[in-house]
Amino acid sequence: METVDTIDRLRGGVGAAKLAGNTIAVVPTMGAFHEGHLTLMRRARQECGLVVVTLFVNPTQFNNPEDFRKYPRDMARDASMAQDAGVDLLFTPKPEEIYPAGFNTTVTVSGISDRLEGASRPGHFAGVATVVAKLLNIVGADRAYFGEKDWQQLQVIKRLSLDLNIPTAIVPVPTVRESDGLAMSSRNVRLSPDERKAAVVISRALADAKRLADAGTTDAAVIAMAMQAVLSAEPLARVDYAVVVNPATLEEVDTIDHGALAAIAAYFGSVRLIDNCLLS
Ligand code: AMP
Repeated sequence: METVDTIDRLRGGVGAAKLAGNTIAVVPTMGAFHEGHLTLMRRARQECGLVVVTLFVNPTQFNNPEDFRKYPRDMARDASMAQDAGVDLLFTPKPEEIYPAGFNTTVTVSGISDRLEGASRPGHFAGVATVVAKLLNIVGADRAYFGEKDWQQLQVIKRLSLDLNIPTAIVPVPTVRESDGLAMSSRNVRLSPDERKAAVVISRALADAKRLADAGTTDAAVIAMAMQAVLSAEPLARVDYAVVVNPATLEEVDTIDHGALAAIAAYFGSVRLIDNCLLS
C-alpha cells in the first residue's frame, strides 16, 4: 500500500492503474477505522483492480467545533488496518490540499439535506456533499462505496451524483454491528462504559420497529411511538429523533405500506449516535 497526500500523486497512481486496465474503487472515510470501514474496503477489494481509500476529517461538515476537535484520529493505526484490508492507495490530504483557496462553491442537495440529520446539524450535508463531489472528481473511480449506516448521507450522495452526472457508481454497503447490535461508529470509542452499555437501546428500538412491521403493523405513528417507548426507558439516552420516513426522501410517512425506514438519533453524554433500519 502506498500513502499519498497530494492530488497529483493520487492521480498519478490512479492513472497508471487505469492504463493497465484496472477498474478503480474509492472508499471515502474520515479515519478511526473499525470493522464497518474494513467491510467497505474488502468489498471494494473483491470488485475492483485498484482500491483507493481517502482519509480526510473534513472540517466543513462539522457544525459542532467540539465534535471536530474530539473526532478520533490515529493515522498509523488506520494505515496498518487499511493495508491489511488490501487497500492499494491511501489518500491523506491536509485541509490545504482540499481547500487551497478557501471555498466559494458549495454543493447543496436541497430537500433531503434539510431533514433529520440536516435539521439537527445545520450545514452538515452541504459540507458532506461538497467534499464528496470533490473526492469523486479527484479520484475518478468507477465505483464508490458508502455505508447504509449513514442512510441519509447515502441518499444525498446518490442524488448529487445523479444531478451532477458524476460517472462513478455509488455502491451501498449494509451496516456492520457489534455483537450486541450497536452499529459500529468511530464515535463509539468516546462512550463511557455505562454509555456504551446503554447505547444498545438504539438497535433494540429499531429491532422492535422491525418486529412490529413484520407482524403487520402499518401505522407509522404506532411504530414511532414503540421506538420512543424503548428509548425513554433508558435514562442515559437523550433522543434527538425516532421517526418512520420515506427511505428515498426522508420525509415522515403515515403508513409503511409503500416502504419505510425507521431512523434514530440519540445522545449518550456528549456523543451523538445514529442508526436506521428498513421496515419493508
Ligand atoms: P466515516 O469515516 O464515519 O465518515 O465513514 C466512512 C464510510 O464508512 C461511510 O460511507 C460510512 O457510512 C461507512 N460506515 C461507517 N460506519 C459503518 C458501519 N457500521 N457499517 C457500514 N458502513 C459504515
